[in-house]
Amino acid sequence: MRVSRRDFLKISGMTAGSLFVRELGFNLDAIEAKVPELKTASCQATPTICPYCSCGCGILIYTKGGQLIGSEGDPDHPINQGAVCSKGAAVRQVYESPKRFTKPMYRAAGSDRWEEKDWDWMLNRIAEKVKETRDRYFEREQNGITVNRCHAIANMGGAALDNEEGYLLHKFARMLGVVYLEHQARI
Ligand code: SF4
Repeated sequence: MRVSRRDFLKISGMTAGSLFVRELGFNLDAIEAKVPELKTASCQATPTICPYCSCGCGILIYTKGGQLIGSEGDPDHPINQGAVCSKGAAVRQVYESPKRFTKPMYRAAGSDRWEEKDWDWMLNRIAEKVKETRDRYFEREQNGITVNRCHAIANMGGAALDNEEGYLLHKFARMLGVVYLEHQARI
């Protein structure tokens, strides 16, 4: 039988736990027979990346019938190899929180209220503002030195971006002349 690292971790955990409980005099045979049916056995596992910090740990999200059942560190992920910190372990709260935004929200300049907008509207608005700001503030040179920069726009990356997305975002920002490149995890 081929045992993956993931199977090995599960078996090791179950074995250590059952040895300890057996020491206390309990018969676990009936429970062990049920283990494959427990918890996430019939769920769909979807790999994702923890959104919180720059470690970028891999997480498996378990769903069943469209409902989130649980989450755990992805044992096959090269960065965390199944481990997650307390924030990563509680990542399902991001999904379940009643405060979670599920649609783009827009607040016009000078307004005191947020409006719900669709993605097309929001992306067009962002593109318009980027073009307008760059056209207005792009500097070709300063004191006779070529600078090709735009100080009026900043770019913020997120921890859920992978290498390729981060590379493309960085190239895009530099192409616009953006010099203020930051990352959510450093703030
Ligand atoms: S918050 Fe924790 S689980 Fe998430 S990426 Fe950072 S170290 Fe990993």
